[in-house]
Amino acid sequence: MDAEELAGRLVAGGFVMADEPTDADTILVNTCGFIDAAKKDSIDQILAAAELRQADGVKHVVVAGCLAERYGAELAAELPEADAVLGFDDYPEIAERLRRIASGGTVTAHQPQDRRGLLPISPASRQRTLPDPALPEPGYRKVVRSRLDNSPSAALKIASGCDRRCAFCAIPAFRGAYLSKPPADVVAEARWLVDQGVKEVLLVSENSTSYGKDLPGVQPAQLLAELSHVDGLEWIRMTYLQPAELRPALIDAICGTEHVLPYFDLPFQHAAAPVLRRMRRFGDAESFLELLESIRSRNLAAGIRTNVIVGFPGETESDLEELAEFLTAARLDAIGVFGYSNEEGTEGYSLDGQLDADEIAGRVEWITSLVDELMAQRAEDRIAQLVPILVEGADLGRAAQQGPSDGITRIEYGADAKPARRRRMLVPGDLVLGKVVANDGVDLVAELTEG
Ligand code: SF4
Repeated sequence: MDAEELAGRLVAGGFVMADEPTDADTILVNTCGFIDAAKKDSIDQILAAAELRQADGVKHVVVAGCLAERYGAELAAELPEADAVLGFDDYPEIAERLRRIASGGTVTAHQPQDRRGLLPISPASRQRTLPDPALPEPGYRKVVRSRLDNSPSAALKIASGCDRRCAFCAIPAFRGAYLSKPPADVVAEARWLVDQGVKEVLLVSENSTSYGKDLPGVQPAQLLAELSHVDGLEWIRMTYLQPAELRPALIDAICGTEHVLPYFDLPFQHAAAPVLRRMRRFGDAESFLELLESIRSRNLAAGIRTNVIVGFPGETESDLEELAEFLTAARLDAIGVFGYSNEEGTEGYSLDGQLDADEIAGRVEWITSLVDELMAQRAEDRIAQLVPILVEGADLGRAAQQGPSDGITRIEYGADAKPARRRRMLVPGDLVLGKVVANDGVDLVAELTEG
């Protein structure tokens, strides 16, 4: 969605988006710089774009996004294949920057800085300062965004930055302090997305439970209530809920607000208390299970996903077993497993007890094979349930409890389906009701139940 904001600024500045990279004069690569694997993917994309320049007449390759922001001039020096490396401060003038590069000029790469110091420490004072250049200006009702695909589902950023200090995470340093987008701006963007054919918005930020902390009187539940009145917006899916900050009022709002999906994206990261403390996070297996229980006491069928990091410095084999026991007890729909990535500039980087790469890989393999089995079991639990499905492709969609990376649902036409339904092809954006009849690992097979 950062890419769509950049595209919006470029279109407003007179640029035209090419359908294919090979049709473009300039390729802007939007990178991710969170962990080693993402950095490697980003660099591969930059190099692939540079190859198109040689082979297909693409003239310029420009790098933006988190990797560019995080490494700036250092990245520019190491990647001569790129014509320029742009940071977040270049975004408001992105069209001017690209025009300058296209006409043979240069843009000097920035020296990265810790962006946490750019906004006041007190969240309540932040909205009165200059806007974060990575966001549309607060109070700026005109939506500056161009869609880059026709998906009926779109991300909608509700905030940028993070005030937490997880020991493994470099994001706050390059994204800066937490800054909420005002509710009126979020609603305006949701309306704009609906006008583009979107049926589902994914509310994203580094930490959605913090939404509104810098906007006096604004709570996440209020944002959900306002979005639920956007005509034509069928599904509202909130993501990145910090487990330690998830309060009963927000659980109630997620489970009880029309159009808001009973879906909880809870990045627990681990379950063993000693590891969580070293990560500078809260909670333990017991409190996490209580949280899951409190969600399921409101909606037994709620979709719940998590991410975990294994191989954090000091993680013992018994910590890992505790994580495995927790995941087994938690009955989650989707679990992402990441090996610890030792990121410079984070507290974890200099912690003792670093595990070697082979050991981390072995732990990832073990937990991954466990969660594959657990996710398949959970999907099997869904058999016989009635689930709303958002159609995304030919007889393919996602059930309400499935976020974009949580598996898919294959749609079949049961014997009970009315002939008219069997004749009419489903198209992306259709919302249908299905009965789960089988699973294939984490994926579901559902029969249409309405005609
Ligand atoms: S809450 Fe998320 S973004 Fe913030 S420091 Fe922790 S992991 Fe990073």
